[in-house]
Amino acid sequence: MDAVSAHARTLDEGNPFAARRGRFRLPDGVIYLDGNSLGVLPAAVPERMRQVVETQWGESLIRAWNEHDWIDLPQRVGDRIGALIGAAPGTVTAGDSTSINVFKMLAAALSLRPERKVILSDNGNFPTDLYVAQGLRDLLDKGHELKVVAPQEVEAALDDTVAVMMLTEVDYRTGRLHDMAGLTRKAHAVGALTLWDLAHSAGALPVDLGGAGADFAVGCGYKYLNGGPGAPAFLYVAPEHQPRIAAPLTGWMGHEAPFAFDLDYRPAPGVDKMRVGTPPILSLSALDAALDEFDGVDMAALRAQSVSLSELFIAEVERRCDGLELVSPRDHARRGSQVSFRFEHGYALMQALIDRGVIGDFRAPDVVRFGFTPLYLSHEDVLRACEILEDIVATRSWDQPRFHKRAKVT
Ligand SMILES: *Cc1c(COP(=O)(O)O)cnc(C)c1O
Repeated sequence: MDAVSAHARTLDEGNPFAARRGRFRLPDGVIYLDGNSLGVLPAAVPERMRQVVETQWGESLIRAWNEHDWIDLPQRVGDRIGALIGAAPGTVTAGDSTSINVFKMLAAALSLRPERKVILSDNGNFPTDLYVAQGLRDLLDKGHELKVVAPQEVEAALDDTVAVMMLTEVDYRTGRLHDMAGLTRKAHAVGALTLWDLAHSAGALPVDLGGAGADFAVGCGYKYLNGGPGAPAFLYVAPEHQPRIAAPLTGWMGHEAPFAFDLDYRPAPGVDKMRVGTPPILSLSALDAALDEFDGVDMAALRAQSVSLSELFIAEVERRCDGLELVSPRDHARRGSQVSFRFEHGYALMQALIDRGVIGDFRAPDVVRFGFTPLYLSHEDVLRACEILEDIVATRSWDQPRFHKRAKVT
């Protein structure tokens, strides 16, 4: 064993999450560095799904809404996610997609600042957030402007025209981490509200929405939270805003008394008014079971492991591979739980890696992206991935027609 392998093994000996790996179903021969895009299947999920489908749905049928308390599942799952992101009970609800939740939260936030017209965001934001803002701006037709600046220019762009500062905490492409507490404070100083997208934060690093004083937040269930493809998303409304905001999508599940079947809409109190239609019980149940894997997890310890895995990856890739340029911040304090490199033939390189069992993903135009998920990843995995990457780059084995052929999903 060489010195680097010995080092990786030593690091793994101190891994507080080593025992959790067996609670995830990792296919043989796969090193999965894409838990930031679609989390791995937790071993407890299939059994929970079987039980919910066969017993709850199959036998209890409609009675399950009460007998198995399906009706309150969005709040229960919401509170469990809330515990991971510094949100008090009763401030988070699970459901819909992140895109829809951006729409709901942005509309609610804008209605609290009717005299202001600017939505401030940055060009590192995930496109769906910007698309939704553009659609909402056009739908409202009240003269709103979506102002998109470079991430490092957000602070300077904050002034008294800004209604809402809408940012994603961790840049999906580069992994750059915004200072949530600092930017929230500065936004509030000019009277703006904040909407944070936690798609690449929840379950990846410590988040303290309450401590930061964030106004609104949204995030994904299928990335670091491992809720499965298309898992329900979540949204957060700070307690002080709950009585003041109006829901833009006034469906019956956000009504104060859905089963009164009144003809007129009356909002439910609290965050529940942001619910819209019937909750997706099967996928909420899968997400609920997946969240068991975070029970007892100290997010600070998880962050320390994530940093350690990422630092090893960066050091080894830079030592072994020519032509790969780090696009993530080098300072781990300014980085989320992913590392990205630029490579001219990034798409083909990623296909060649996947062919050898190292799964990351590609983001146009030339970025290869790797996520680090300490609950099921070891330093030895990271080292092995670097060895395979080194071999592919050195031999140019990525340069084959089959690796250049673009699929629909990258
Ligand atoms: C992944 C991601 C989304 C995805 O939104 P969906 O509605 O679930 O497709 C939204 N925002 C950010 C920042 C993301 O990274």
